[in-house]
Amino acid sequence: MLVWMLACAGAPPPEPVVAAPPPVEAPAAPPEEPAPVERCSAPGPGCTCPGDGESPACFPAYDGSIGAIPPDVRADMEGRSWRLGCPVPVDDLALLMVPHWDDDGAIVRGELVVAQSASVDVLAAFGALYDARFPIHQMKRVDAYGADDRASMAADNTSAFNCRPVAGTDRWSEHAYGLAIDINPLQNPYVSGSRVSPPEGAKYADRSVLSPGGIGPDGVVVRAFADIGWRWGGDWAAAKDYQHVSKSGR
Ligand SMILES: [Zn+2]
Repeated sequence: MLVWMLACAGAPPPEPVVAAPPPVEAPAAPPEEPAPVERCSAPGPGCTCPGDGESPACFPAYDGSIGAIPPDVRADMEGRSWRLGCPVPVDDLALLMVPHWDDDGAIVRGELVVAQSASVDVLAAFGALYDARFPIHQMKRVDAYGADDRASMAADNTSAFNCRPVAGTDRWSEHAYGLAIDINPLQNPYVSGSRVSPPEGAKYADRSVLSPGGIGPDGVVVRAFADIGWRWGGDWAAAKDYQHVSKSGR
């Protein structure tokens, strides 16, 4: 805030003989400081500064959260990702709000539905991905795609719970229990011989060069989920599900 002080003193000025000069315009207010992209710049509460260099890159500390499925989300799920006959009741699921980095280097919040029993572990694993600035293209509940797994994969959408069978079988997927997550599925497709799913991810079937959101055997995603006891579909013996992590390893 600028405070302008006006000093007035002396006798009134004489009447002008000629036209008065144009009034002096008040100087423009200094421009507002641009909003910082990141809310913190130094180590301290609420700020993560990985590394110990002289000028570490700092960003807001991870603040993901876990809650019960609220009524509006439940209504959105019913008839899409959840229906009567599913192996777990909605009350055994949890809604995670997950801060993550996107492809443009911005921090955004995603939504993930997982089994309540795994929610604390899963939130911690995504915290490790956040601290590593691992980019996640987007993270919406699969209901945004009518629970159509193929559409969600083609959109490179990270999601977890979906009451569906294993593709091509009548066996429940681990996703139907909220105990599996598909991460950046376009960049990390399922590959079985010449079959790639989603087909739009065919160019990512070659794993010799990974995209920024690609999952590799030595990468942060596999490590973060190994730390909570989960396993990666890229380690499967035959078909490889590079997007898939699960508690059971299936
Ligand atoms: Zn999966």
